[in-house]
Amino acid sequence: MSQPVFFDTHAHLDYPDYTADFNDVLARAAAAGITKLISIATDLESSRRAIALAEKHSGIYATVGWHPSNAHEAPEDIRPALRELVNHPKVVAIGEIGLDYYRLPSTQGGTAEDDVRYKQKQAEIFRQQLEVAAAARLNCVIHQRSSFADTFAQIQPFARQVRGVFHCFGESTDRLRQILDLGWLVSYTGIVTFKNGQNIRDAVAATPLDRFMLETDCPYLAPVPYRGKRCEPAYVKEISETVAQVKGCSLEELSQATCATAERFFPKLKTAP
Ligand SMILES: [Zn+2]
Repeated sequence: MSQPVFFDTHAHLDYPDYTADFNDVLARAAAAGITKLISIATDLESSRRAIALAEKHSGIYATVGWHPSNAHEAPEDIRPALRELVNHPKVVAIGEIGLDYYRLPSTQGGTAEDDVRYKQKQAEIFRQQLEVAAAARLNCVIHQRSSFADTFAQIQPFARQVRGVFHCFGESTDRLRQILDLGWLVSYTGIVTFKNGQNIRDAVAATPLDRFMLETDCPYLAPVPYRGKRCEPAYVKEISETVAQVKGCSLEELSQATCATAERFFPKLKTAP
């Protein structure tokens, strides 16, 4: 009996966590039935590394983008550098981009003015990247933490031109509804398996089968029984088992739905050589 196939739609494969055993990580993913991996970028160097991995390995795809937590290190205008990368046949989206207010400068000895500047720079880089996405007709992988209202407000002017996925979704079902009403998607990580992850399981239960994708966000957020260890794409298997349970569907149904959703959302998953 062939095992159900899944994708890891959000993995940080360019991180140094994997340099020592990269090929083993890929082999374990393949053995677990995880056939397509999207390496998610966090800055320009990371974008180039993700593309290099995608060029080298047939099952790996890349995003390009600048993470909000690194926004203070971003160039004034990130658009020219990004535009050079977006047409690559294996660049499937812009990401991860968004806003992150989790560790504001004021919580680390900074002032309220530092917070304002920090948020402004994040908003500026986010807007520039949404512009590039709209012009290149690429979808976006959205990161937000403690910043949902601002993030949601900032995507509004672009919501007709681009679509996005709110990755590592962990918000209320009201916010889920707002995202789905826009025609956007969410994706779920290993948090769904955590003992204290009931709110995530509630969100999964409330998300139609064709409106979400699966991801690890590795090396972070390893699912049970690997919680606390380094995460890797093979663990989508554990995530899929919990999600199938919550949805009351078979792994085969979940495989078909989530892979079809990912291939619609990231069309280059199908067309890339
Ligand atoms: Zn990530």
